[in-house]
Amino acid sequence: MAAAGVVLVTLQVLAPDGAVGDATYLGALGLASLVGWVAAVRCRGQERRAWIMMALGISLSAAADLTYSVIYWTRGVEPDVSVADPLWIASYAALGLGVFRLTPGRENARGPDVDAIIDSLVAAIVALLVVWEVALEDMVTDSSTSILARATWSAYPVLDVVLLALVVRLALLHHRNRSASVLLVGAGIASWLAADLGYLVVTAEGALVWLDVGWMVASLLLALAIVARRHEPLSSAPALTDQPVRERMWFVMIPLLAPVAIDLRSHMDHTESEPLALGTATVALVALACIRGHRLLRAAERAREAVHVSETHYRALAAHSSDAVVVLDRDHRVVEASGNLARLVGQDTSTVLGESGPEALACVDCDTLRSYLDSVRSTPGGVAEHEIEVRHTDGDRRWLSTRMVNLLDDPAVAGIVVNLHDVTDRRRAQDELAHQAFHDSLTGLANHALFTDRIEQTLRRTARTGTTATVLYLDVDGFKSVNDRLGHDAGDTVLREVADRLRATVRSADTVARLGGDEFAMLIEADHVEAGEARTTAERILQVLSIPVDVGGQLIAISASIGLATGDAGSSAASLLRHADIAMYRAKADGKARIVVFDEQMGAEAGHLVRIEADLPGVVERGELELHYQPVLELATGRLAGFEALVRWQHPELGLLSPDRFIPACEATGQIVPIGRWILETACASGARWRDAGDGPPPLTMAVNLSAVQLSTDQVVDDVRQALDRSGLDPGLLVLEITETGLVADPVAATTRLRALHELGVRLAIDDFGTGYSSLSYLRQFPIDILKIDRSFVDTITADDELPPIIRGLLDLARTLDLDIIAEGIESDVQHEGLRREACAMGQGFLFSRPLPAPDVDRLLANRAQTSEPARSS
Ligand code: C2E
Ligand code: CA
Ligand code: CA
Repeated sequence: MAAAGVVLVTLQVLAPDGAVGDATYLGALGLASLVGWVAAVRCRGQERRAWIMMALGISLSAAADLTYSVIYWTRGVEPDVSVADPLWIASYAALGLGVFRLTPGRENARGPDVDAIIDSLVAAIVALLVVWEVALEDMVTDSSTSILARATWSAYPVLDVVLLALVVRLALLHHRNRSASVLLVGAGIASWLAADLGYLVVTAEGALVWLDVGWMVASLLLALAIVARRHEPLSSAPALTDQPVRERMWFVMIPLLAPVAIDLRSHMDHTESEPLALGTATVALVALACIRGHRLLRAAERAREAVHVSETHYRALAAHSSDAVVVLDRDHRVVEASGNLARLVGQDTSTVLGESGPEALACVDCDTLRSYLDSVRSTPGGVAEHEIEVRHTDGDRRWLSTRMVNLLDDPAVAGIVVNLHDVTDRRRAQDELAHQAFHDSLTGLANHALFTDRIEQTLRRTARTGTTATVLYLDVDGFKSVNDRLGHDAGDTVLREVADRLRATVRSADTVARLGGDEFAMLIEADHVEAGEARTTAERILQVLSIPVDVGGQLIAISASIGLATGDAGSSAASLLRHADIAMYRAKADGKARIVVFDEQMGAEAGHLVRIEADLPGVVERGELELHYQPVLELATGRLAGFEALVRWQHPELGLLSPDRFIPACEATGQIVPIGRWILETACASGARWRDAGDGPPPLTMAVNLSAVQLSTDQVVDDVRQALDRSGLDPGLLVLEITETGLVADPVAATTRLRALHELGVRLAIDDFGTGYSSLSYLRQFPIDILKIDRSFVDTITADDELPPIIRGLLDLARTLDLDIIAEGIESDVQHEGLRREACAMGQGFLFSRPLPAPDVDRLLANRAQTSEPARSS
């Protein structure tokens, strides 16, 4: 189309007259109408009607020209007024409507753009004034032509002015986002107006040709605009801005000069300008300028108001938030602080202004905070998050999480913004968890893990200092009988009393630990102990323990057997502990209540630990191992849900050994692999046998403990698969219990192996949860289904009221991670009730049943089938 248009326009310029001139002129208009219609009809979206109007305008104008030409050809004269005129006038109307509609959505969205209307009016007034001065005045007052002709002719300049105003409005509304189509419309209308204006002022014959070219080009450009719009993405539809455009004020102010300019010109030409027209125009322009100015001021005022409102809003938010905000300058001095600082650290906002930030916050470790601030200050826009400990003015210590943002370069802030949030509760729960991980909950003494760690540290130190470390291993004589005669509570009282006395005997630097049951240990660092001093300490302990313990008014005599072992840089924590343990057993064997110092001879003579290690090979083949099964119950209903298999060793001389006595040796010697395989097969076979002997449709599950060493071998997956195949137990009924330590040792290998196990369909449980290295973050990484809350946590439930926060935290955590929970070691009704209330689903413990040999389980299941009573035995 563009090419055809160029050809037609060129022809028109070369041969403007005669048949060729008429043909090219009408041809161009016809082409423009045709193309315009085709493109407009295909347009989509809200603007479709605007473009159709535009096409209508082009073709009305073409029709008018054709009509005019036909009249000229048939009559041979150019008529003043004819039927062509209504068509032309209609074409202006259609084009005007089209341009007006080109800014859709504007009106609906935010009301009409009054400023754009005013600006268009200004343009219209100036144009009208010019047109009036140039042509209209003479035309209207020329009494030699008919009224109809005068009215018709003056209609065109007026319509031109309206069209001009509409184009100006279009340009203003699209001033931020001009698309090709809008530009083409602007160019087309401009060409049209130029030709119209030329027609009014130019009288020379030669110039008239260029007017025809102007109208041709106008029609072609408008048609092209419609085509262009079709190819623009709809999203580029003008995004209109609301901004009061200050620069546009000039657009209203400068036209005020127009009347003056016209007056000046008339003066120079020695002609009279029409005072009424000039006066009216001036008044109108001034009025519009006033309105425009007023609106601009109001918009500015409103913007200020909005800023004020949002500032008040944010101030109110800050004042009522539980967080505090402090702004520091480059030297870390407080320049601003929000009111709730008083709540967080007890400091009043007004007193901290100008003070150094770390001091204002009463930091426990000001230097560290200062170094954090220094590093934030060094990067513009830098952000850092840390937790800091502060001293509240009420004497309390609090933990605050801080977020520091360097906004020194932001002129609105010009400071380091520090957001403070109280996280004391979370920190305490975390600390408690960490404490639980390393301490015995009954006595508060170090546990096995912490004690081993301390021995290792001390041994490392002895390598540097050349000194020695001594481990004192202590077992309370006859404790079992206290427990059996007087009950668990009495037993616990005795253990707590022993712990207190041990603590009182040593210096605070020495570590006292409870290793389990009635076994205690002490680490005496050699760098402040003379040779023989360990023995003196042990004697002092025997002495303080010889005082009877008061248990509810009843005096109970106790004594202890103590083993001592000394090591140096060449020893390991495990060997040192074992030697002390061997010595302690020797003390017991020698008649209790005495001290035995380990010597190499003793090791060679093979204490029971050495026996155990030596006797392990072939233990499966000899049939000395047996599994006991502890019932797992649904806490809400008492329904039996399944069992946990726990291994025992019926030692021909040492009697029934608990797993704690021999599993470590199994792990150390690698015997755990064949033994673990036997446990898996036996437990799965029992599980398959009992699966349907429960109370209801969900079949009974079977849990088996996997040692970390087993998990570190590739074989474990095959072993589990084989046990399932041989027994026919559904994989979904087998639960494998793994401790956190088993996971953290080699998390990558553990992950792949656990995935493989999970793919077999078995479920995985974290055993003794909370006592390991609190690998909360690891949890998400492993395909875990069940969390077993360790007995030490359940032990802390003592009263009938609220559960200790740490337990609720663990239950919450499990729920968040969508894990099942089993509480271990439930010994009392209070514990059972509390856990049930907090929606802990499953539990096991002596309250319901101790681990039972298989025949007892058979009997239990048979009884339940008859009575369907919840399992409960002492
Ligand atoms: P665990 O997996 O945490 O097993 C629970 C232990 O708590 C069992 O001790 C059980 O008898 C005891 N227990 C259950 N309810 C109560 C209660 O209400 N109060 C008290 N005070 N204790 C309760 P057990 O059988 O001596 O096992 C000790 C640990 O030896 C087990 O702890 C487990 O880590 C390990 N173990 C047991 N059997 C196996 C096994 O077949 N393979 C492996 N690798 N380890 C095993
Ligand atoms: Ca377990
Ligand atoms: Ca456990």
